[in-house]
Amino acid sequence: MRQPLVAGNWKMHGSRAENASLVRSLLDLVRAESRAEVLLCPPFPYLWEVGRLLKDTDVALGAQSVCAEPHGAFTGEVSAAMLKDVGCHFVLVGHSERRQIFGESDSLVARKFVAAQSQGLVPVLCVGETLEERESNRTLAVVSRQLDAVLSVSGVGALAGAVIAYEPVWAIGTGRNASPDQAQEVHAMIRGKVAALDATIAASVRVLYGGSVKASNARELFAMPDIDGGLVGGASLKADEFARICAAAD
Ligand code: PEP
Repeated sequence: MRQPLVAGNWKMHGSRAENASLVRSLLDLVRAESRAEVLLCPPFPYLWEVGRLLKDTDVALGAQSVCAEPHGAFTGEVSAAMLKDVGCHFVLVGHSERRQIFGESDSLVARKFVAAQSQGLVPVLCVGETLEERESNRTLAVVSRQLDAVLSVSGVGALAGAVIAYEPVWAIGTGRNASPDQAQEVHAMIRGKVAALDATIAASVRVLYGGSVKASNARELFAMPDIDGGLVGGASLKADEFARICAAAD
């Protein structure tokens, strides 16, 4: 039985005051006995403080990206060891905004995945196709290629300690989510691809859906057999909405 995971990606939003109020409201609203694991990914400067607010709660802390290098002259970058040091347990790698806006390649994402695991962080590997790729029937090929980049470097064993997030680029921040059937098709392909290499890992690896998840569509998405929760952007900035999404994963 896979424990559902609902992750909030705050992107480049928030302030110390807003974060404190959001976290306090969320902790009041998210049921302590919730079956779903809940994860918050604030921007780098707020990790430590949000981590303090989450101390002694069941809500986990994660970062939005990580440097592929362990240390050194990489101005502006943040290493996996630093994330671990400030209390992170998870880190997103290969979010589509990193791939599309900052030009992160499949091979760089694979190196980030390795860097995260080398420090004991759980990488949340984001994969997904653009609208153009979907419209030219390349969705499964693109997602498969993105997974292969990690599998060829890390091997299937590495997925045992990881999370995968399917996030169609055309659904992120657009208000237009993939339908449950569209998402399930890709999730089943992902799990099938892992199963061809290792059935046990395939049965246990969590595959999240991300892309305009809201309280109003979360339940039907999370009801699909291969969807194990969500990676939530915009809706994670509203405590009530995010708590309802977490409840939908229970
Ligand atoms: C995301 O940032 O990963 C995301 C899915 O954003 P949104 O929920 O706003 O589409």
